[in-house]
Formats: sequence, structure tokens, C-alpha cells
Amino acid sequence: MRQKNMHSLRVYLYIAALGVGVLLLSLLLFSKPTPVYEEKEFPVLGTIVRVKVAGDKVSSNVLLNTAEQELYRLHNKFSPNVEGSIIQKLNTDRKVEVDEEGLFLFQATYNYAVITGGAFDPTVRPLLKLWGFDDINSPKKVPIQEEINRTLENVDYRFIKIDEEKREISLLKDGVEVDLGGIAKGYAIDLVIQKIKEIDPGATGFVDAGGDIGIIGPKFGELAWVIGIRDPFSQDALKSIDTIYLTSGAVATSGDYERFFIEDGKKYHHILDPEDGYPAGNASSVTVIAEKAMIADVFSTALFVLGYDNPALDYFTDFGIQALIISPTGESTETSGFDYFREKM
Ligand code: ADP
Ligand code: MG
Repeated sequence: MRQKNMHSLRVYLYIAALGVGVLLLSLLLFSKPTPVYEEKEFPVLGTIVRVKVAGDKVSSNVLLNTAEQELYRLHNKFSPNVEGSIIQKLNTDRKVEVDEEGLFLFQATYNYAVITGGAFDPTVRPLLKLWGFDDINSPKKVPIQEEINRTLENVDYRFIKIDEEKREISLLKDGVEVDLGGIAKGYAIDLVIQKIKEIDPGATGFVDAGGDIGIIGPKFGELAWVIGIRDPFSQDALKSIDTIYLTSGAVATSGDYERFFIEDGKKYHHILDPEDGYPAGNASSVTVIAEKAMIADVFSTALFVLGYDNPALDYFTDFGIQALIISPTGESTETSGFDYFREKM
């Protein structure tokens, strides 16, 4: 009786040991190593683009090279100050032939101008030049009212003609100039993510283009990336007033602290109201969450122009966005679904 017990105990131990062995072996064979993140910064598209990525099947460095190629390709194609870019050609020759991608970006830009009632307007370039916001090296100054009035006559997205058949973009009035600075960064983020995913669908990480962030994939494949929303009233770029958590999608923040100058104690920043030609004064920061960085980018700029006291804010959720707007006096409004992203997912 006792011996029989001993025997079954031994059998039991054998089975247990075997079980543990199989478990360890399968852990060894099937478990993935913790992803190793590599990151790199690229000075393109008028900002610093930071890519942080961990490959799944492909090495992180190969993915960084893919990102780099894509970023420089888009920089050279769409920057208004790059010799030979589509935009530079359009602004000098008054018309330009474009490929499929160029057509897509112009059509998207035009549509967003329509949707936002011209708050987002790619023809603000002559105004940007007048204020000195077209380039970091341009001297910045408050223009005289007469100059602003004259320049405003050339600011209207309806001066852009898109011929889909001939794949040709043209400008219908002398003096009109285009700048895709409010959309190109977002588009570039989306494309970098797309290229990385084509090569390595399991890659994770994010692309951060000066505050516009697109998620490649969750941290270590499972955790949300924690994104602080900068306090627009603090000099400290690291001080945040809010936190959101994203495992996918994109977020863009437009702030009056990003590019500005101070004259006679007054601050002038780079998001211009196409209506009156002055820096938009009804917001100090706008954060937009969307599925695509391009959409987040466009709406962060457009809602900044439309301002804090915008009764139609929730209307824009129809376009798949959630937004948080902080007024110049520190009050905030947000769309009904924004709060969802404050929760850890
Ligand atoms: P940032 O580039 O600092 O992140 P935004 O995403 O809001 O800020 O984009 C601002 C850029 O968009 C400006 O540098 C300028 O090129 C362009 N821009 C400024 N005002 C407008 C506007 N009303 N509509 C479209 N583009 C604009
Ligand atoms: Mg923007």
C-alpha cells in the first residue's frame, strides 16, 4: 500500500518535471526577445523629425534608413524653399505637372481648405513671407497694415486650380504662392509609418515631427505611448498640462510657442489667420488626435485659426478627430471624445 503510494508519487514527479521541461523549451523557442528601440533625428520639413523604432522581423537600423530615405524624398519634393521641389516650381512657373502623389496631396489640401471654410489655407505663403515666417532665416517684423491688406488680396485657396485630367496644378492670379507647411509634415509621418510597416508589419515605435506624432506600433508591442501636451504658458518645453495615451493613430499640437518673435512686448507667431492676415489670436494651443497624422496636422492648424470659442467644434468630429483647445487665458474646451485618450489603454 505504502509502496504503491511512493510509486505514484514518483510517476507524478516525472510528469511534472517533463511538463516544466516542455514549458521552458517552448518559452525558449517561441517567446520573442524584448524589442530593441533605435532612434535617429532628421532635420527636414522645417523641423526635426525623430523616429524611434524597434523592428520585429527586420533590424531597427534598416527601418531607420527607410524612414530617412522617405523623409528626404518628401522634403525635396514638397518644401517651398528647396530648389526643384514641386512647390518651388509652382510658385515660380505658376503651374506644375504633378504625379499621383502630388495630385493626392493638393486635392487633400484643397478639400481641407473647403471643409474648414478657409481657416486652413495653403495660399498663406505671401503673408508668411511678409511676417518672415516662411524661413527660419527670414527677418521677422510686424508689417504695416497697408502691406497686409495688399497681400491679403492674394490669399485665397480658390486661386489654386487642380486639373485632374492633365495632372496639373496652376495658380490663377499673380502674386499667389503656396505653402504646404500645414499638411506636409503630417503626410510625411503617415508615409514613413506606411513604408516601415510594408517592410516589417510587426515594427513598433513612433515618428515625432516637432510635436506631430504618429504611432508605428505600441511600446514593446503592447503598451501605450505616453504623450505629454506641452503647457503653452511655460518657457519650459518639458512642462506638460495634460497627458494622453496612444497605441495607434496620431496626435498633433499647434502652439503659439513654436515659432514666434516678440516686438514691443507683444508676441507674434506663425499660424496666420487668412481672414485678417495676423497671427491667429483666439488660441494658445490646439491638440488634435486622429487616425492619420495628416488629418491631425491640418486640423491642429485650422482649429487654431478658428479659435477657442468655436461653437461648431464638435462638428469636426465627423472628420474623425478629437480636439483640445486652450485659450490665450488658459481656459480649455474639448470635443466629447477627447477624454477617452487620457485613460491608459
Ligand atoms: P508647426 O509647424 O509649428 O507644428 P502647424 O502644424 O500648425 O505648426 O503648421 C504651421 C505651418 O502651417 C506654418 O509654418 C505655415 O507654413 C503654415 N500655415 C500658417 N498658417 C496657416 C493657415 N492658416 N493655413 C494653412 N497653413 C498655414
Ligand atoms: Mg498642424
